[in-house]
Amino acid sequence: MRPLTASAPTMKRLNLAAILSVIRQAGPLPRTEIAERTGLTKATVTNLVGNLIAEGLVMEELPGRSTGGRRPVPVALNPRSRFVIGVDVGIHEVRVGATDLNAAPIVRQVFPLKRLTSPDQFLAILGDGVDTVLQHMLSVEGMTLDQWLGVGIGMHGIVDAEAGTAIFAPNFGLHNIPIRETLQERFKAPVFVDNDVRAMAAGERWFGSPGAGSDFLFVNVGLGVGAAVVVRGETLTGASGSAGEIGHTVVEPNGRPCACGKKGCLETVASGPSIARRGVEAVRGGIPSLIPEVAGGDLDSVTAYTIYQAASAGDSLARSLFNAAGTHLGNTIGQLVNALDPDAVIIGGGVSGAGIYFWHPLVQRVRQVAVETAGAHLRVMPSTVSDATLIGAATMVLHSLFSPKF
Ligand SMILES: [Zn+2]
Repeated sequence: MRPLTASAPTMKRLNLAAILSVIRQAGPLPRTEIAERTGLTKATVTNLVGNLIAEGLVMEELPGRSTGGRRPVPVALNPRSRFVIGVDVGIHEVRVGATDLNAAPIVRQVFPLKRLTSPDQFLAILGDGVDTVLQHMLSVEGMTLDQWLGVGIGMHGIVDAEAGTAIFAPNFGLHNIPIRETLQERFKAPVFVDNDVRAMAAGERWFGSPGAGSDFLFVNVGLGVGAAVVVRGETLTGASGSAGEIGHTVVEPNGRPCACGKKGCLETVASGPSIARRGVEAVRGGIPSLIPEVAGGDLDSVTAYTIYQAASAGDSLARSLFNAAGTHLGNTIGQLVNALDPDAVIIGGGVSGAGIYFWHPLVQRVRQVAVETAGAHLRVMPSTVSDATLIGAATMVLHSLFSPKF
């Protein structure tokens, strides 16, 4: 949001960002239209577009058709003029990729995470991964350090985005990992850190379904269950950094123990590993099912995808597991819809690919629970961003260019 008073250099940077942002979203555009869309004068736009051309960020295209008089020259974003690095910190691996200004991937590499014993060990793997991709961009892609805008990190668990610290990474059993401080010290470049689901929501807003609007819930259902709450384009972090932890709302009082220490959390019903675990337990308990056959007789190898294959083959146990996951998730989402009244609910993560067995009960339950006013305009839709955490993490860096905060 533009401050009411700002120094001249700050105003100039805000105006440059406003012009860049309009060109990114709607370009190529002639200068007259950029002036109309930004509310800046034609003279200011001409002057600042000149700056952006000199910096290589935008370029002039061939003139369009004229309706008489001089033909307007469209100005377009030059996506390869800069690059960003995005990082998806998973449970078993770190995925590092570089993208251009449209978040189009240029290179991606995966670095396995062995058993972690200390924050320093994790930070070394993370830093080395970023360095490997950075060196590739410099030596193979021919980019320069000046063209690097920084690195964004999407990290699972509880993250203090302002401090750039992972407060608690339950899957690593690590606390207080100073990610930004360490990487900034090593690379002398801007570093942005946020929770992985909030990163996904950032990517979805800029590069996903155009129907998301500025008020939406992004729900990730994969190895865990989490949400990001976007209100007027801003993602809520909460007082302690844990806003959106819907995976740990209790849906079965006195239910199964959860990794968080409580019992009966949504995650114990709806996450991919929970769906697989429940399927295996039911089979071992004697319930007839196609799951063992689909798994080739090896119940230890069963994943949520195995359960999905069994559901597709008509297995009623497998279908009931997705039905329970979708229903419980829909119930929690419906309550959130009543509290927040968003335009849309966007669902990503591996389990969201489970088709009608998951989607039908989910959408039905959201509609049942949501009040009529909030439900009437609500859209529930799948995420369209692939490699969502990495692209979302890259988007956090792109924000610093297109919509900087002062
Ligand atoms: Zn829990």
